[in-house]
Formats: sequence, structure tokens, C-alpha cells
Amino acid sequence: MVRLDHVSKAYDGTLVVDGVSLTVTPSTTLVLIGPSGCGKSTLLRMVAGLVPPDSGSIFVTDRPMKSETRSEIRNRLGYVIQDGGLFPHLTARENMTIRSRLARWSAERIESRVLELAELTRFPLAGLERYPAQLSGGQRQRVGIMRALMTDPEVLLLDEPLAALDPMIRRDLQDDLRQIFSTLGKTVIFVTHDLHEAAWFADQIVLLKSGQIEQVGSAAELANAPASEFVSQFVRAQRTSDFGAAVR
Ligand code: ADP
Ligand code: MG
Repeated sequence: MVRLDHVSKAYDGTLVVDGVSLTVTPSTTLVLIGPSGCGKSTLLRMVAGLVPPDSGSIFVTDRPMKSETRSEIRNRLGYVIQDGGLFPHLTARENMTIRSRLARWSAERIESRVLELAELTRFPLAGLERYPAQLSGGQRQRVGIMRALMTDPEVLLLDEPLAALDPMIRRDLQDDLRQIFSTLGKTVIFVTHDLHEAAWFADQIVLLKSGQIEQVGSAAELANAPASEFVSQFVRAQRTSDFGAAVR
């Protein structure tokens, strides 16, 4: 479980996350959505323990995020960002296995986990020995996902992991990722600015505006029962001919 209780964060005197409270039920996916600059990444970084909130509390797997618990909590989290965040001078395999090597796993255990994840994410084995620059964008994201899953964390945080991919590659990864989340029963926070993608992944969608929660619900609820004019505008801006199918 992940829980935020009245979490706020200001930069340069401006609140970018403003009193956010939310709960992610175990083994479900919460999608954070909203326009650029509304505070999605800042919120996720606070859950990841990378940025401390100014006020409020964060609980990850029932542990309160504090300076004493931060490193333990970070070991229970997998975090994936838009460009994959891979180290360019390490191969795919080396990128994936950093944490497990630091945790002094045996070579056999590491190898069997690498093979298991390559199968799960449909990543070609030959690609394991390549450097990020020698992989396609979709393959790099698969490595980022494998790296996040390597030590089998209870919670996965993904910050627009598919935003930079072209539509067909993105579609493939959407299919695979949803399958992975449900097969592994992970507790997931997924950030996107795309309502179709939100509808595809979410058990619960949280729409942010200027650091505050504007509405919580399904994509259909946002579309059919918008809580405010802002929600209507947000949905309308994203509506395309196939949106109806996405929210049914
Ligand atoms: P989103 O991910 O929704 O696009 P962000 O959380 O990245 O939004 O940013 C929210 C706001 O906070 C933006 O106005 C951004 O410029 C600002 N911001 C984010 N990180 C920092 C930082 N490290 N220093 C100063 N301002 C920041
Ligand atoms: Mg962002």
C-alpha cells in the first residue's frame, strides 16, 4: 500500500504539490494525470524518497517515509522515468543488475532473474550485452522496466515511461506492461498526461491541477461526470474518435 496524507511541496515560494491525500490499494494501479507542470513528477519523486515533502506524510508498504526509513523504503520500490534513466556506459545487463550486485546476490541468482525478466518483458537476449545507445527506444524502456523489477519490489513508480515512444512501439509496451502489472500483482503509480493511456492502466485515476486533486475516478467518470469545468476541458482536449471505446 502507498498512502499520502496532506502532502505539500513548494519551489521558490510556489506550491507545486498542495495538500494531496491519496491511497493506492495493494496490487492496484493508480494513474496520476494532468497537464504539464501540475506536479505529477514532483509527487512521484516524493513517493520515491528522492525529494522530501515540506509537510504531510507518506507511507510506503505501511512504513512512514522518514530519513531513517528512506533507504529501506527505496529498496522496496522500482522507479522508471521517461527516458529510462539508464547509465550510458553500462550494458543493458549491467544496468539491470546494479542493485542485485550491490545486494550481493549470487551470480546464479542474478542470471536466473535476468533470464526470467527478459522473457517477461519480451526483451531479446542478444540485447543484454548492448549499451543503451545501441538499443531502440522501446528496448531501452524494457531495460528500465527490467531494472525496476530486478529485486522484485512491492511498489512500482513509473513517470511517463512510454511518452517518448512512437505509437506502435508504445502500444506494444502498453499491452505488455498491463499484463506484467496484473501477473505480478504490483502496487503501481503510473504518471501520464494521456487519458487513453490512463484508461488502459488505471484501477483509479487521479487528475491533478496546479498541485491539487481535481477529481478521482475512472476515465468514464471523468468523461461523463466531470467535477469541474477544468475536467471537462481536459477530457475534451484529449477526445478523439476512438475515445468512447477507451472509456467504456
Ligand atoms: P509535471 O510532472 O506534472 O509536468 P513537475 O512536478 O515536473 O510537473 O513540476 C511542477 C512544477 O514544479 C513546475 O512548475 C516545475 O517547473 C516546478 N519544479 C519541479 N521541480 C523543480 C525544482 N527542482 N526546482 C524548482 N522548480 C521545480
Ligand atoms: Mg513530469
